Amino acid sequence: MKISGGRVFDLQRGFVERELCFDGPLLTPDSRDGQVFDASGCWVIPGLTDVHFHGCRGADLSDGDADGLQAMAEYQLSRGVTQICPAGMTLPEDRLMKVCQTAAAHRRERRPGADLVGINLEGPFLSRAKKGAQNGEWLHAPDAAMLRRLTDAAEGLVKLVSAAPEEPGAMDFIREASEEVNVSVAHTTADYGTALDAFRAGARQVTHLFNAMPGFTHRSPGVVGAALDCPWVRVELICDGVHIHPSVVRAVFKMFGPERVVLISDTMRAAGMTDGKYDLGGQEVTVKGPLATLADGTIAGSVTDLTACMKAAVSFGVPLADAVRSAAVTPAQAIGIFDRVGSLEPGKRANAVVLDADLAVKAVFFHGKRV
Ligand SMILES: [Zn+2]
Repeated sequence: MKISGGRVFDLQRGFVERELCFDGPLLTPDSRDGQVFDASGCWVIPGLTDVHFHGCRGADLSDGDADGLQAMAEYQLSRGVTQICPAGMTLPEDRLMKVCQTAAAHRRERRPGADLVGINLEGPFLSRAKKGAQNGEWLHAPDAAMLRRLTDAAEGLVKLVSAAPEEPGAMDFIREASEEVNVSVAHTTADYGTALDAFRAGARQVTHLFNAMPGFTHRSPGVVGAALDCPWVRVELICDGVHIHPSVVRAVFKMFGPERVVLISDTMRAAGMTDGKYDLGGQEVTVKGPLATLADGTIAGSVTDLTACMKAAVSFGVPLADAVRSAAVTPAQAIGIFDRVGSLEPGKRANAVVLDADLAVKAVFFHGKRV
């Protein structure tokens, strides 16, 4: 297969006019099978990786349901998200165990849909004061032994774990956990100094920057300032047009650069569904248009998808190549899969998305086959 006539994403140069070739599951320097896909006037980008979304298509990772997880994987693939690392909510340990076991079985059985490349444990090691839409009943002090039980149950699939660094035992937890998984500072009241300590202890990411944490102000730079001062830290950004003002999206790209911004969708189960009432981690969420809220008005996840978030970033003024980098490259680097996916060099997986001039998904290629 040759995808020809389009502008192809290039890590160094942004976009270049060239052919993208593959005859099997991996990209190759040339193609001999005679098939051509005409991508004239289109953009050709790597398949995206969403490292933080909870659900879609009526299902949620936290359900611990095999068919639901498959429905999520299939929906994401149709949207051009070829790698998924869905996130769990704050739940009791036995339910998180079920989540981890279900995910491990999904991968073992090679179920259809986007590649399940990891899971992200957003809860339960979070601050009560900043729990957002997480269920306060099941919050837990950071606990490395619990994390070990969960990572074992997930057969190595846990790639990200969130923690509030001001909670008791959090710094020891970060030191220990960061040897195996990417620890992300989240749902926290941490000030600048505490966040700096967390990053120096080994945390390498911030969960949905600005959301569920103190702000970035002139004498209190908080988590945002500490992350900026630690070049090894990447920051997640929900770019659904609801969670973060467009001006702040532009500012974050200027401050951190696309190589440190991880675009995420943070969707809940109503993504890809109609307006109505849905469950999120045991709490009722009302969805109306782009808004998903708890009864008290707290924003409870989004109802978009990562491809739409990337498009939103562009509509806010972020250059397309930067938005693609933050939706395809940086997330893959954040969870350690960039050697296989996330860019379009020969030898990498033939996972590519063709976008039309309006950035709508025109075609998705996955392991060398058109979806
Ligand atoms: Zn959250």
